[in-house]
Amino acid sequence: MSTTAEAVPAKEQVAAALERIFGFKNFRPGQEEVVRAIMTGQDTLAVMPTGGGKSLCYQLPACLLPGTCIVVSPLIALMKDQVDAARSNGIRASFLNSSLSAGERNSVERDLVDGKLDLLYISPERFAIDAFTENLRQCSISFAAIDEAHCICAWGHDFRPDYLLLSSLKRKLPRIPVAAFTASANRTMRQDIVRQLVLHEPFLYCGSFNRENLFYEVEPKEDAERQILSFVEKYKGEPGIVYRMTREGVENTTEFLQREGISALPYHAGLDDAARSANQEAFSRDKADVVVATIAFGMGIDKSNIRYVVHGDLPRSLENYYQETGRAGRDGDPAHCFLLFNRGDLPRLHYFIDRMENEEIARQHRIALADMAAFAAQYICRRRTLLAHFGEILPGDNCGGCDVCTGSSETVDITREAQILLSAVFRTGERFGMNHVINVVRGADTRQIRSCGHHTIKTYGAGRDLPKRRWREIFEALLAEELCTVTVDAYPVVKLTKKALTVLFGDRTVSILQRTVPVRAVTAARYGGASNQLFEQLRTLRRQLAEERGVPPYVIFSDRTLHDMTGRLPSTPGAMLEVAGVGAVKLEQYGKRFLEVVLRYIDEHPDVVAERRSAPAGAVSPAAARKKRPGNSALETGKLAAQGLSLEKIAGERGCTRGTIVTHLETLFSHGHDYPIGQFIDEKLRDIIAGHFSRLGTTALRPVVEAAQGEFGYEEARLVRAWLQRQHGEGA
Ligand code: ADP
Ligand code: ZN
Repeated sequence: MSTTAEAVPAKEQVAAALERIFGFKNFRPGQEEVVRAIMTGQDTLAVMPTGGGKSLCYQLPACLLPGTCIVVSPLIALMKDQVDAARSNGIRASFLNSSLSAGERNSVERDLVDGKLDLLYISPERFAIDAFTENLRQCSISFAAIDEAHCICAWGHDFRPDYLLLSSLKRKLPRIPVAAFTASANRTMRQDIVRQLVLHEPFLYCGSFNRENLFYEVEPKEDAERQILSFVEKYKGEPGIVYRMTREGVENTTEFLQREGISALPYHAGLDDAARSANQEAFSRDKADVVVATIAFGMGIDKSNIRYVVHGDLPRSLENYYQETGRAGRDGDPAHCFLLFNRGDLPRLHYFIDRMENEEIARQHRIALADMAAFAAQYICRRRTLLAHFGEILPGDNCGGCDVCTGSSETVDITREAQILLSAVFRTGERFGMNHVINVVRGADTRQIRSCGHHTIKTYGAGRDLPKRRWREIFEALLAEELCTVTVDAYPVVKLTKKALTVLFGDRTVSILQRTVPVRAVTAARYGGASNQLFEQLRTLRRQLAEERGVPPYVIFSDRTLHDMTGRLPSTPGAMLEVAGVGAVKLEQYGKRFLEVVLRYIDEHPDVVAERRSAPAGAVSPAAARKKRPGNSALETGKLAAQGLSLEKIAGERGCTRGTIVTHLETLFSHGHDYPIGQFIDEKLRDIIAGHFSRLGTTALRPVVEAAQGEFGYEEARLVRAWLQRQHGEGA
């Protein structure tokens, strides 16, 4: 183990290794800082969103440091794939777990002692074996990496009792640095990880939870299976997950999709182990497009090219939603998260909560569910709402990646409809659920209406002209305006609020913000049509190679690498090395085969090739393409900024708030405009803020503002962050 600064390779050497081993030119956010901390022998906790590239954070130092890095990973089933993936980059990796025979185990242990391993994956229960830890003491160990470290939190959703064994790690092997990794956004969990693993003054990296490549969309649920089918058909041939709440829902939806010609497989806890792992395997090896699953499906899924996640029913919390949607697009390419929402899902979810023994826990679940429902029901930027839930503030005013921000909308007056509905709630005695009330206004003939005599009330049938779906939307709007509420229990009942009276008496109008243009799907026109053909050919080759070697396709190359190939059309091994994700070892192993396919394509399509060559190489980054160009208003602000005006002056001159001006400046900085920061903010304060960003190793605002303890606020932090990013040349 090396802890002296001199022994740490220079920045350039680390960058060279990144390119040579992994074929990447740049680090993802946070990777460089985390790698550096590990290289200097510091304990580390890295919180990065799914797809953030955590494995590289320990694999790269493992290759550069002398000795073996021990990786603790919760899922035995995944270890082989992880090891295959590392080996395909030329990393000397092995694993030790109960699936090995005694002979295999011995041989791995011998390699460990002989110093022939960069990486050794093990399961946590190995630490219960004293002989094993004793053995480790005799070997040269560079550091220990704990994957999915939140599994150590006893009250968390992914708790694994054997992770508690890791608490003894520091005691048994005191000189070995520990680097913990998690994608859990929860702050108490992070504290728990540091405490349980006994990390010593750890370097903390906490990345932004914004998944820029994910597009969020919510649609009112009418006929779930039909809606799912038409969504899935848009992505035919691409991998996706469809979540349903119950086993029955999974079975029915799978059969429905299969009948409609979709290659779908089920996954739920009711299937036996063999069937479950066969289905997961088929999905992970690109042999089935869709997995329809309950939430039992997830942790073990390491597939990076999942293009969409559909929720056919409401998830129980925003944490669940974030985690489940987070499985899409780990390769960084665009992916689509599609949620079907109907308040009718709530009673069933409440039913489970009501059976919980611990009332306090049940209460927390109710709150979490209400937050989830509000997210789906309200017409507010999905990304902003989601991030705000995790304490992160999204800069700018349009995320450009959700149905709300990309759809256009108009305000429609619904006062008359609101009066009909609220009046029906009142006249039925505030004792019924939304469905019944809607049935009343639509003049339906149900047993409940007849038995309660509700066909005789004044508003019965008054809303016959509008479909049920429309009434539900109106209902959601009334809830959002707090004109009524729904009780929180197994049989939710609609109640009026005081505000409702002002509407009923005609003293107040109600309006609804309504989508007028269907959302633009992000993934449409993602890549040119011509390259799609090449992409398919490359994908076929990848599948062949994967089958020959018995590994999942993504171990060979990620989708993103294949897309980059279609963009660059490399015709020599040297050019192949330029492709993102092609390192020296992969070039040697697969380069020739992929080159052949590209060369054949070039041969057959001289026209396409000429055209592409004249365009800039490489696929357009979707985030960059989406990045909002400065609008007229921002440019106006830019003119005043260029005259050297202060923030207050610009705000005054333009009649905007400081916040709006800061938003403009963020956009301007990110598009390469530059102004001396001193005109907006005191330089001393700037240094303090910049210091916090660098010390915390983050670009997220909240930790920085919290660390400031009132010294400055979000506006100042946003401004300095935008300016810093401009100075680092991150603007376009
Ligand atoms: P996590 O474990 O954080 O969910 P992974 O380690 O599986 O994420 O990485 C997700 C994907 O990102 C992988 O396909 C990986 O090859 C890719 N990746 C990681 N680091 C980089 C990088 N610096 N540049 C490009 N791609 C990267
Ligand atoms: Zn948005």
